[in-house]
Amino acid sequence: MKQFKTESKKMLDMMINSVYTNREIFLRELISNASDAIDKRYFRSLTDQSFALPREEYGIDISIDKENRIIKITDNGCGMTESELEENLSTIAHSGSGTFKSENTDENISIIGQFGVGFYSAFMISKKISVRTRAIGSDTAFCWESEGTEGYTITPCDYEPFGSEITLYIKEDTETENFTEFLDQYKIKGLVKRYSDYIRYPIRMDMEITKPQYSDDENAEPKYETTIENQTLNSMVPLWHRNASEVTEEEYNDFYKSAFFDYNAPAKTIQAHIEGTVEYETLMFIPQKAPVDYYSKGYEKGLTLYSNGVMIMDKCPDLLPDYFNFVKGIVDSSDLTLNISRETLQQNYQLRTIAKSLEKKIRSELSKLMTQDREKYTGFFKEFGAVLKFGVYNDYGANKDTLKDLLVFKSVATDNYISFKEYTEAMPEDQKAIYYASAATEELAKSLPRTNLVRSKGYDVLLFTDEVDEFVATTLGTYADKNFINVTSGNLDLSSDDEKESVNTLNEESKDLLAFMGEVLKGEVKSVRFSNSIGEHPVSLVSEGYISAEMARVLSQLPGRENMNLAQTVLEINMNHKLTESLKNLFESDKEKLTAYTEILYAQARLISGLDVKDPVKLSSQICDLL
Ligand code: ADP
Repeated sequence: MKQFKTESKKMLDMMINSVYTNREIFLRELISNASDAIDKRYFRSLTDQSFALPREEYGIDISIDKENRIIKITDNGCGMTESELEENLSTIAHSGSGTFKSENTDENISIIGQFGVGFYSAFMISKKISVRTRAIGSDTAFCWESEGTEGYTITPCDYEPFGSEITLYIKEDTETENFTEFLDQYKIKGLVKRYSDYIRYPIRMDMEITKPQYSDDENAEPKYETTIENQTLNSMVPLWHRNASEVTEEEYNDFYKSAFFDYNAPAKTIQAHIEGTVEYETLMFIPQKAPVDYYSKGYEKGLTLYSNGVMIMDKCPDLLPDYFNFVKGIVDSSDLTLNISRETLQQNYQLRTIAKSLEKKIRSELSKLMTQDREKYTGFFKEFGAVLKFGVYNDYGANKDTLKDLLVFKSVATDNYISFKEYTEAMPEDQKAIYYASAATEELAKSLPRTNLVRSKGYDVLLFTDEVDEFVATTLGTYADKNFINVTSGNLDLSSDDEKESVNTLNEESKDLLAFMGEVLKGEVKSVRFSNSIGEHPVSLVSEGYISAEMARVLSQLPGRENMNLAQTVLEINMNHKLTESLKNLFESDKEKLTAYTEILYAQARLISGLDVKDPVKLSSQICDLL
């Protein structure tokens, strides 16, 4: 008996004691070795006909002997010579190990990551493994056998065909561990489907099929008949390897629905073959509807990652930025090595390159959908727009430029959802800024006095009804060099010089009146003033400084902030309203009544802005007194 090299021994120890918890991958590893071996034979046969097979005869066979606890995996690939057996199965392959140095603190996992799990993973479920193999063109066959860390033997043996036969002697169950499940034909079939569905060669297995026998006699006990059916378990050609023009929309939709558990067809299907520093294929879907768990903590983003048709990871999160976390789909790249572990993927250069190019692709496809089918895009945006908006202001706006052109908002002039680009392009020449009205509902935002004033100048107004919308605008700062201005902002500045002059004069003349009213509302507003920018309404609340009244409303809903007056609010009184004269008169004749008027007007302004009234009972009796 020969001894394994130290490193191999360490690895084997880990496999046998199974620190690597994902046991079921053993089958994936053995099948992809078999597939590689067939590739090698096939390519060699192109120059040496003596061991060529008709293409359809290449394949991988699995058999299960439940009674004797044996699984066999047989391939008609290139096989191994004696020295190849020694080299390949008795020392650890160092392929790709240099790239991932052990930054991981968990030493075991990182070693597996460095060397790949490979053939040895079969020791996770096997107490003994034997490999009978005959290399193409060779007269002698050899048998490699090992029960694990003790060592291995290589002896000549009888094995007729070219290729390899791997025999796994499955471990006995223990109190805590179930190995017998791997002797179940449906379990094995499931694993082939899950991990190896797109291996190019057929993976065949004899399946025991039990069917009821029907008889004419209705009262007869039902009889069952068991037959053996040799089935090809894998579908071989993945959808994304087929020419896009040959795949029907229905096929794409069916694949999406079954692979990603959705009842609805996707809003958009994206298929691409990307060549560049890293070559890969991708098939992605933008769902129509958010999954039920989408806005919960349990939702996991990610694309399924394949290396040449072999599944490496179910939901690889590093392929998608958070703001595109709704995208479903797969990535398949032959530039990725199979033996990459979940832990080392993050540091992988190829993966980062793919992720970057996917991001660009998703962005351009979304923007295409936006121009080509606005209705569909709006539907998508209603489901997932919150995530895009979050992407804009998250990370201090690091990704705002990637995302700003994917946002749409309802506009008053078009009564449709439009982008900032469309808004700014349609602006009249004299319009200085992008105007938005912010409120809890569309109706409220539309009916704000200032919204109508801005509209009367011929300018469009965007309706910000999502609590985060103003944060988005604040993060963006400008779009196409235009500032975002809340219509209720103190610096709306739509008046002509003459108009400004007359407002200033009135405010100057009424200094004492306004100061009195300001004193009444002390702690509520910063000041009171006359204005000609209110439109029809008698009063309006405007804000000065960074935070608008609507943002203050949102912030005040946060726990602990209820009593904070965050906005620097100003109460504006319409100078063109007949109210102005009454206020002036009251200041001379009845200060008590003026106090009540001031409080009522302030309450009214709050209501119009969608804010609540602090003391409704008092307000109600004040109104009654006046009537
Ligand atoms: P890896 O596949 O990452 O190289 P493995 O430990 O799985 O690592 O396999 C080591 C080597 O053994 C393979 O590279 C291959 O050369 C050889 N090998 C494994 N299985 C087979 C097989 N069924 N037929 C021929 N060669 C094989």
